[in-house]
Amino acid sequence: MSFPFCNVSLPVPLRTTFTYAVPESLREMVRPGTRVLVPFRKKPMVGVVVELTEHAPADTKIREITKALDREPALTPKLIELGHWIANYYLAPVGEMFRAMLPPVIEMRTQRQITLTEAGRDAVASLSGGELTHGLARVEVEFLAKLAGKKEPLAFASAAKFGLDAGALERLRRQGLIEIRETVLGRTAKTQRVLAWKKDAEKDNAETQRAQGVRGDGAPNVRGDEESGGPKSGRDFDDKVRRVRDELAERGALPLGLLLKLAGVSRAVVERMLREGLLESWEERVDPAEDPFDVGYEAPAHELNAEQESAFGAIRARFELGEFGVLLLHGVTGSGKTEVYMRSVQETLARGKTAIVLVPEIALTLWVGRQCRAWFGARFEGVAVLHSALSDVERAREWWRVRRGEARVVVGTRSAVFAPLENLGLIIVDEEQENSFKQEETPRYHGRDVAIVRAKMENAVALLGSATPSLETYHHARNGKYELLTLASRVANRSMASVEIVDMREDFQRTHQTNPISSALRAGIQECLKQGTQALVLINRRGYSWSVLCRSCGVSVQCANCSISMTYHKHRNRLECHYCGSIQSVPKVCPKCESKYVYFFGEGSEHLEERLRKEFPGARIARLDRDTARTKRQYQETLGAFAGGALDILVGTQMLAKGHDFQRVTLVGVISADSSLHLPDFRAAERTFQLLTQVAGRAGRGELAGRVLIQTYYPEHYAIQDAVRQDYGSFFEREMHFRRMMQYPPFTSLANVIVRDTSLEKAIVWSRQLSEYFLPYDGKGARILGPATAPLARLKKEHRFQFLLKSPRRSVLTRVLGGAMAYCEAKEIPQTAVLVDMDPLSLL
Ligand code: ADP
Ligand code: ZN
Ligand code: ZN
Repeated sequence: MSFPFCNVSLPVPLRTTFTYAVPESLREMVRPGTRVLVPFRKKPMVGVVVELTEHAPADTKIREITKALDREPALTPKLIELGHWIANYYLAPVGEMFRAMLPPVIEMRTQRQITLTEAGRDAVASLSGGELTHGLARVEVEFLAKLAGKKEPLAFASAAKFGLDAGALERLRRQGLIEIRETVLGRTAKTQRVLAWKKDAEKDNAETQRAQGVRGDGAPNVRGDEESGGPKSGRDFDDKVRRVRDELAERGALPLGLLLKLAGVSRAVVERMLREGLLESWEERVDPAEDPFDVGYEAPAHELNAEQESAFGAIRARFELGEFGVLLLHGVTGSGKTEVYMRSVQETLARGKTAIVLVPEIALTLWVGRQCRAWFGARFEGVAVLHSALSDVERAREWWRVRRGEARVVVGTRSAVFAPLENLGLIIVDEEQENSFKQEETPRYHGRDVAIVRAKMENAVALLGSATPSLETYHHARNGKYELLTLASRVANRSMASVEIVDMREDFQRTHQTNPISSALRAGIQECLKQGTQALVLINRRGYSWSVLCRSCGVSVQCANCSISMTYHKHRNRLECHYCGSIQSVPKVCPKCESKYVYFFGEGSEHLEERLRKEFPGARIARLDRDTARTKRQYQETLGAFAGGALDILVGTQMLAKGHDFQRVTLVGVISADSSLHLPDFRAAERTFQLLTQVAGRAGRGELAGRVLIQTYYPEHYAIQDAVRQDYGSFFEREMHFRRMMQYPPFTSLANVIVRDTSLEKAIVWSRQLSEYFLPYDGKGARILGPATAPLARLKKEHRFQFLLKSPRRSVLTRVLGGAMAYCEAKEIPQTAVLVDMDPLSLL
């Protein structure tokens, strides 16, 4: 039966759906989950049908759907159900929720294109004498010659210009002279320059090499010195040529950016080599799933050790039961959790089901994606990768591959939990404790928690993994709600890295220098460089300095929109607000008293990188943080260069702390371990402990033993002490004690409510009104604190006030907050002014 109306969810910050009429002609196509174009207010808008109905509300004028965008509904019924659940639980506007689930709206433009085949090329070459072969007509020959002269494929439609019709083209195709393909045209550049060693050049160079002796060991600076290759630098140039050749010989053709990093040469060197005919280059299409390190990569398939075997056995037993369950794989760093994940996915696929693997960082999708492709996919099939650093076109393409069932394993960050897989059997959440699983804007869902809910809805298994589970998760595992699987030791009897504290107070008393690099860390790095192993250095802030102060009047430069100090970025030569993104020029004099004693205070990653370059001039150093890595390719290049041994020291923010399996890292330094302890947040200790333990886990993963140096001004704190011993159990007990005393999660549920507006007065009035609503509920199954000025009192020009709701029963919070939303509507407090964060991770 066909329905005359449907309810459509639109991407607007409102808590309702909208009813539209389905014109007769679209009734076949419009189903729940279909994306549709509809008129909304005065604009066309893309929404998604969440329900078909027989009736429309009587009192409003009903408009018609303009167009259906999908032949097959974009969302499955299960996803629609999940979307409603999330909107309800997190009190998020439905429209925003479904927007987060849908693929980017791009009109996929496709084009039929013609390219010349090898045989076609030969035919053209053999025709130079003017003779006709293959029984070709003159126009056809001219056409082929034209194609041979073109770098780009020719649009099918343009063939008409040459006097060839579809029939003629088809004949050429059948003769194997041309190829005709449907190609998706992206809006972003999707080709890259690839370089290879030119065959003929090999001989000459072998001679140069003999003349010069063995490969020079002068470790180059990764950035490369900008040399153009004058005569006096000839020797130096030969050295670089050798490095380029060695890389290309070892790995085959490489994309330009990657080659520069691996060989440690500048672009100018490569350009010169091209001019001298040593290299050849061409443009190649970039596949979103492709990763240059995939080439020849084989995933290690180890025999499981006894602990892994028993964990995997428990997971398999769960599959046998064929019902929903949550398992926590608690395995110390380097215990081989990935191996257990891969077997579990394999088992899922073998049972004809599909799997999602969630990881906390984009950088990790590369690594885990590669593992998955090596295990399960012919190179680009079977496995899809979804994360926010893909372009819209790439993301849409990956999304639809999944939706069409072409990919049965999805690797991705938070939002990949909505991957449109059917027949879902397993969701893995790696590093389940990570904050990045929580979305800090509407809809404020937690990817891990949604994974569990989705698994339940689809009768699938949720497998959470971590070396340092969140307190909530471990609490559930201990009380039997989740099944606990433990990997207590590292694989192959490798020992945990030894962790030492560097007390910065002592270091200062001894050296009287305020160097962020302690003498112990400096010595450690020197040792690495000498041994030819690698060092990771972590600092938790990006930028050059995170505060700009006037020595004369003490004022610090604040963001114009937020109550936050501006961060100085030296390379970009400006101040930036890390909260709202606003920019200011670097002040020469104090903005308040005009004294010229402005100074920069508090080291960030950019500063640290500069220091390291100064202190270790010969070392190959790179930095990885959100300033240096904005695109997937940039991550790939730096991480690849480090993993491939083309770097000695990698500096970065916490994105380096997680998951990576670098085999040659023997030293990890943490610059200011305690800075995260001082945040006004009840989870400060937990975060510090997790971060330090994770970081410690990056050292000594291969054959070489690892060492970790934690620099701190607060070595007595239990979070730091337990991290040094890498003793999760001890930390868990101490922290649970604190949480119980203070009535914090996991002993209570929490909701954070922020009332905000650019007008201070309105924000105050609305807070008062809301407070009147909350008052009668306080003490009745819930504690309601506030309104108070939020710790971030101003953000993006808005003034902020805060309520904190606590209750041992979450359903109480949901009920009270549901009522609050209705109350706001009645009082005409705008929906956007009241921000509800259920199970908040940050109370700022
Ligand atoms: P985790 O995620 O627990 O920190 P990984 O899964 O990255 O650890 O594994 C650490 C290293 O141990 C990897 O290099 C992996 O290939 C290797 N490994 C995993 N399982 C085994 C095993 N059973 N025997 C030997 N090596 C293993
Ligand atoms: Zn001043
Ligand atoms: Zn700001």
